[in-house]
Amino acid sequence: DQLTSQQAIDLENKYGAHNYHPLPVVLSRGEGVYVWDVEGKQYYDFLSAYSAVNQGHCHPKIVGAMTNQAQNLTLTSRAFYNDVLGKYEKFACEFFGFDKLLPMNTGAEAVETALKLCRKWAYEVKGIDENEAEIIVCENNFHGRTTTIISFSNDPVARKNFGPFTNGFIKIEYDNLEALEEALKNNPNVGGFLVEPIQGEAGVYVPSEGYLAKAKALCEKYNVLFIADEVQTGIARTGKLLAVNHENVTPDILILGKALSGGAYPVSAVLANDSVMNVIKPGNHGSTFGGNPVAAAVAIAALTVVKEEELSNNAEALGQLFRSELNKFIETSNIASLVRGKGLLNAILINDDEDSDTAWNICLALRDNGLLAKPTHGNIIRFAPPLVMTKEQLLDCVDIIIKTLKQFEK
Ligand code: PMP
Repeated sequence: DQLTSQQAIDLENKYGAHNYHPLPVVLSRGEGVYVWDVEGKQYYDFLSAYSAVNQGHCHPKIVGAMTNQAQNLTLTSRAFYNDVLGKYEKFACEFFGFDKLLPMNTGAEAVETALKLCRKWAYEVKGIDENEAEIIVCENNFHGRTTTIISFSNDPVARKNFGPFTNGFIKIEYDNLEALEEALKNNPNVGGFLVEPIQGEAGVYVPSEGYLAKAKALCEKYNVLFIADEVQTGIARTGKLLAVNHENVTPDILILGKALSGGAYPVSAVLANDSVMNVIKPGNHGSTFGGNPVAAAVAIAALTVVKEEELSNNAEALGQLFRSELNKFIETSNIASLVRGKGLLNAILINDDEDSDTAWNICLALRDNGLLAKPTHGNIIRFAPPLVMTKEQLLDCVDIIIKTLKQFEK
């Protein structure tokens, strides 16, 4: 039986834990840049499941690879080999330019994996005394929601009453090279620096040009691993395959998730060269589902689509158009003061308080006007559509966004 939107919402509210605050819209179908609610209303998806559905909803190549593989073999666990995982590992290692890949399922799991890998490397290769290794992280980061990861979160809602937490993290200001050098100089036990190339959940905060390249150089100087969390920024989202590519940086550890499957399936990965990854031995780390044949087949297809459809170039071109059109509008309006981002990861800063409900109300109005986006803060809305969008569709979306913002002008 097809539920109405209200019935679906009521069921989730009654039987589901209230760990999210979804925008009230109930989706039942997606294709490319569009999604449809259960009443058949069509929307542009301008969130892409937090930058996972980069290749567009239900891409036929990805769905085809997934259903084909699901008919042959879905899960062996890593107790045995399967005939797809090695192919995928080779494909992804060549695609991103690393020696080895460790397969996981979610972004947070991959971040946990990278932290463990970094610490083991710090003890076994760098020679830091056991239990003394530290990892530098940034203020206002978002890397997921496990207990270790929230140990170094700034978000009081994510942290409060979930302790005790994991030790061994040094938090510094993002986009501050002096703070990084200071931390590296004063703490000889540092094994790595974990950073988002653009801070997505912080409101699409783009660091100064040159920050990543100089941070990488500092990490090299102090023999510390540069760990790039590209779960949100990676896989063509910012107009390059990886956001670190904008500054020609090669991380020592690369963390991927989300669009690694085009949103079709939970697939994440940690990539590194042998000098780092070879510290991992049987029994150190794993997951029943990590590296399963369906995930492997889906990831090969998802990366193939990124390359064949030149999604990086499209994200770069459409991103520039998006920012220039919205900036033109903002010059004549009192509703917003800034559009920032790279490629098709952008945000608009609304002229109101960070804890106001203005951004939320604008997103409700955007929904009514046929476009789905979500605020990161009371005054910031993130815009991250699938990268398979056409120029005509993008301009149509710009019209919807401007029309909606005008409703809120004072
Ligand atoms: N790292 C970053 C940079 C993210 O943006 C996210 C998710 N928003 C994560 C990690 C966590 O990924 P997941 O939700 O799949 O655990």
